[in-house]
Amino acid sequence: MSVLQVPLSVVSGEALRIDLETAGQSLQPEGVSGLPVGPVRIKGTLSGDGVQFVFNGRVAGTFTGTCARCLGPADMPFDVEAVWVFSQGPLPHPLEDWEEEEEDEEDDGVTRIPLDGNAIDLALAAWEEIVLAMPLRLLCKETCAGLCPECGANLNDARCGCAAGMNETTFANKGLKALGDLYPDLKPDRSED
Ligand SMILES: [Zn+2]
Ligand SMILES: [Zn+2]
Repeated sequence: MSVLQVPLSVVSGEALRIDLETAGQSLQPEGVSGLPVGPVRIKGTLSGDGVQFVFNGRVAGTFTGTCARCLGPADMPFDVEAVWVFSQGPLPHPLEDWEEEEEDEEDDGVTRIPLDGNAIDLALAAWEEIVLAMPLRLLCKETCAGLCPECGANLNDARCGCAAGMNETTFANKGLKALGDLYPDLKPDRSED
């Protein structure tokens, strides 16, 4: 049994301290696509009364990948609060109804998870938090300037000489550039750049 599966028998009224670090991939449920996440730390307390068990803590880690703008390395740390309520017994409604109800009534960030078997599956709950924390796209920094569409230079390092790389002149030169595209022979030779 993985350390991420906590047997119900060890959880009582007294809060059990949880402080685990594990590879993000080890949390990934079967059949779902992976996320570019490094080691994940799950830290908090777990307590219960035999019917309902509550984890209260944080899930932290780093998304690691390629910046969507400049294609450089991007590390985006996350550290989110997590409150998970694991309940014994069947859910009162089919899962879809239950989820809808949760959206209507739960505005407090509490995730309710049905208990299945004799262990609390921290992996599954943590994975859900990671999915929610995942940004739509990875950036090396919020203000990343990206690559010049003309010459491919990384505009975070330096401005290239291209019109497209210079914001103030981009619009002014657009008409000329269109002309240049029509008559490529008239374009200045940039091969020596
Ligand atoms: Zn970037
Ligand atoms: Zn350029």
